[in-house]
Amino acid sequence: MKILVIEDEPKAAEYLRQGLAESGYLVEVAANGVDGLHAAASGDHDLVVLDVMLPGIDGFAVLSALRTGKQVPVLMLTARDRIDDKVRGFELGADDYLVKPFQFPELLARVRALLKRNQAVPGDPVVRVGELEIDPVRHRATRGGQRIDLSAKEFALLSLLAQKTGQVLSRTQIASLVWDIHFDSDTNVVEVAVRRLRAKIDDPFPEKLIHTVRGVGYVLERRV
Ligand code: CA
Repeated sequence: MKILVIEDEPKAAEYLRQGLAESGYLVEVAANGVDGLHAAASGDHDLVVLDVMLPGIDGFAVLSALRTGKQVPVLMLTARDRIDDKVRGFELGADDYLVKPFQFPELLARVRALLKRNQAVPGDPVVRVGELEIDPVRHRATRGGQRIDLSAKEFALLSLLAQKTGQVLSRTQIASLVWDIHFDSDTNVVEVAVRRLRAKIDDPFPEKLIHTVRGVGYVLERRV
């Protein structure tokens, strides 16, 4: 498992490199956004740990550049505990978010969760809703045979909705199951993610599968 760490502060970068290496990962460190983007584009990393505050191009810019090509899971780090940053990160396609300072075991738990989510689970059946197919083994979604590129979080969200086809899930439930967020104020993250998901799986097609249940939440089902 290869992890790319994009972090400009030498002490923090070394802390991450050492901790992750001791946990059995191959670690590459980039000290700024430009190098990080180059490393990510040319490497085959299983995960990117991306600091928001970087000289030159910041973490948000790195993330949006990365998302135009790669679907590698991204864990963002920031010193700013601001909901705006969190939403912006998720909107740009970050898969998880960790506020500095953090304890290493917390980072490790999130790294493992992201890597696990991206790994194949043998024997899991393909979920089908109309012409939408979600394959948890190959971590792949298609609609009408067309491959849909989803970030790890988007895939997790779609899988959750698909597993509960026909059941209305509240924003709070989704926030807690997909993001491990347990505060009502954070459900904005869910709305942003549902919007992104809809743009990919529903907007190009006449039949809509994700429905908003006003005042309650969302449901994935066929309504024809
Ligand atoms: Ca930094």
